[in-house]
Amino acid sequence: MKGYAMLGIGKTGWIEKEEPKCGPLDALLKPLAVSPCTSDVHTVWEGAIGERTNMILGHEAVGEVVEVGSLVKDFKPGDKVIVPAITPDWGAIESQAGFSMHSGGMLSGWKFSNYKDGVFSEIFHVNEADANLALLPEGLDIATATMLSDMVPTGFHGVELADVQFGDDVCVIGIGPVGLMAVAAAAIRGAANLYAVGSRKKCVEVAKAYGATDIINYREGDIVEQIMEKTKGKGVDRVIIAGGNVDTMIQAVAMLKPGGRVGNVNYLGTGDFVKIPRLEWGCGMGHKTISGGLMPGGRRRMEKLASLVLTGRVDPSLLLTHKFNGFNHIEEALMLMKSKTADLIKPVVII
Ligand code: NDP
Ligand code: ZN
Repeated sequence: MKGYAMLGIGKTGWIEKEEPKCGPLDALLKPLAVSPCTSDVHTVWEGAIGERTNMILGHEAVGEVVEVGSLVKDFKPGDKVIVPAITPDWGAIESQAGFSMHSGGMLSGWKFSNYKDGVFSEIFHVNEADANLALLPEGLDIATATMLSDMVPTGFHGVELADVQFGDDVCVIGIGPVGLMAVAAAAIRGAANLYAVGSRKKCVEVAKAYGATDIINYREGDIVEQIMEKTKGKGVDRVIIAGGNVDTMIQAVAMLKPGGRVGNVNYLGTGDFVKIPRLEWGCGMGHKTISGGLMPGGRRRMEKLASLVLTGRVDPSLLLTHKFNGFNHIEEALMLMKSKTADLIKPVVII
């Protein structure tokens, strides 16, 4: 089978590989639509998780089932399904502890384009199909549904980690597709003032459509100062980090009120340490909580998020600025994600 792969750090290309085997609980799928992710960019061009050789990239897909294992109960060949980016082993001890995304070790629920071949492939393998796949609901187009693999669940997880409550003042740092989904989720969760940090015009326009009340441009001055000015020196209750770099945490902690929470979903591709500013953290006594997480996968969560889309509570189709037709366009779509042109939020490739 053919796939678009990371050949090594900084190198990508088309390769031929043997088709994967389907275990008794598993499924083999062919992609119907795929989308490249900023995480693919961190993995390949920053070498963020280390060397990978001839590993097929991609972890965002809607697919069609072509084969199921003998123990799979709920899916059959021909079914169209949403494939979550994270596909845990549900029997693992970490899953029993409530952290399925770390089943088998930290970040190990993230298999596609990390530990095994991803979805930029003519055929790909999904472990524990009954637990990890969700049927594509009727009425949901495949391009929009592809945003349910990763963008919706990750942005929403940022809001869960920051534990946004009714009436909270919230700042979302970074309004690429993940941050935009965090803006939408914070609005659903009842944020009052909703500050969105970004610079590109298209992202700003969509942030407003999802409910951002104020836009903060990080290129036009320190974002902590801008937030403090807008909040009359009080800061915000919650910060979601979905962009920036290791130093963004310094700003997040600095703009947070005592008792506030930071939820980080940004994949930190470079830098060895994340610093916390001493004074702004109340010399260690400021009751500021920091958490960071990989998105949870799982069928139940996918079905619930899909129903938010079906009921019109969130419309991820606004993220889709670039559509390609045909498997061979995967390379072009990934390169677009790398170059981040001004008009780009998210590309999708319809196979
Ligand atoms: P994008 O690169 O599209 O968006 C990044 C955003 O951050 C843009 O709005 C950008 O602004 C803004 N930004 C860049 N630099 C700064 C800065 N110094 N200060 C403040 N804002 C800044 O990324 P995605 O939305 O695709 O993904 C966001 C992150 O989430 C990535 O690191 C990705 O790998 C990660 N991720 C994590 C997952 C998880 O499970 N935790 C899953 C999926 C993705 P501008 O408008 O100028 O471009
Ligand atoms: Zn992704």
